[in-house]
Amino acid sequence: MTAETLSIPGLAKPASRIALGTWAIGGAMWGGPDDANAARTIDQALDLGINVIDTAPVYGFGHSEEVIGRALEGKRDKVILATKVALNWQDGKVFRDSRPARIAQEIEDSLRRLRTDHIDLYQVHWPDSKTPMEETARALEKLVKDGKVHALGVSNFSPAQMDEFRKFAPLATIQPPYNLFERDIEQDVLPYAIKNNLAVLAYGPLCRGLLSGRMTADRKFEGDDLRKSDPKFQQPRFGQYLKAVEDLKAIAEKHDKSMLALAIRWVLDRGPTIALWGARKPEQISGVDEAFGWKLDDADMKAIDAILTRDISDPVGPEFMAPSLRN
Ligand code: NAP
Repeated sequence: MTAETLSIPGLAKPASRIALGTWAIGGAMWGGPDDANAARTIDQALDLGINVIDTAPVYGFGHSEEVIGRALEGKRDKVILATKVALNWQDGKVFRDSRPARIAQEIEDSLRRLRTDHIDLYQVHWPDSKTPMEETARALEKLVKDGKVHALGVSNFSPAQMDEFRKFAPLATIQPPYNLFERDIEQDVLPYAIKNNLAVLAYGPLCRGLLSGRMTADRKFEGDDLRKSDPKFQQPRFGQYLKAVEDLKAIAEKHDKSMLALAIRWVLDRGPTIALWGARKPEQISGVDEAFGWKLDDADMKAIDAILTRDISDPVGPEFMAPSLRN
């Protein structure tokens, strides 16, 4: 199956509508790294026609970028490399920092770790209300002029923040949380992206594994795995989400597809989206083909909504992930 693609403004290559998300590959907050499996996962993704890799300096405090840099030696030109900027950390504590000096340092660190001379898509990871947007946007636009970056994106921005950014620099993409269980962007960010021709890089399309169809109530999370404190994974709410997944499987089966393919397909059928599928083992990403080449119709969408409303009486969003402001 050929990958479905989407054009990202400013980039020459069409992007596959499934990207490899590499937060877990960094190790931190996911129970530790496994570099051999990570390298195989990246190779597997490329073999399956995925040509977008999304990472960030903060994923494993540089480790995710380093693993990707090594894995892409000799293959860099096949890939749209998307990384991020504007988080900082001290003693393991992460905070927002989009000051021009931080950006100037981070671009050099990312280029070195990723073993490349340019970043295809450079995204502001979280808005930093302590730095004027103009300073951030102009510093980023300079990187585009210098050829170090080919297109700019933002993540976790509201429409008002995107409006402000676009006064000073062009924007190609927005990266918000979006999956069957986390749908806030339908109110504002998604219509904004459609109106302004932004590609939507949907993060957490499997809701951190909840929507894989393989999550069970007795799953144990190791070490520093963020799901130990993720409110969706705490009972009794966890049970409500798992029940919804069991019921959603009937819709997947109607199409002769897995739950996981349904979750990804749903994201792809909602707008100009790319699903950032997080994986750290090659077998996790092997089902890419199953998500392409079919569609959910209106009746499916209505049936899905009815299941979600009926089964999840106590929904909660992904807000627990938001990093602090700078002191
Ligand atoms: P996700 O894609 O919703 O879920 C990833 C997890 O699902 C995996 O770590 C794995 O968990 C499980 N999974 C994946 N494939 C599976 C399979 N075939 N079978 C069973 N389980 C499977 O969540 P995410 O990693 O949080 O988000 C995806 C990407 O979005 C990230 O990697 C990152 O690139 C980006 N992101 C961006 C932001 C932002 O602020 N911009 C925030 C979050 C994420 P186990 O390995 O534990 O089984």
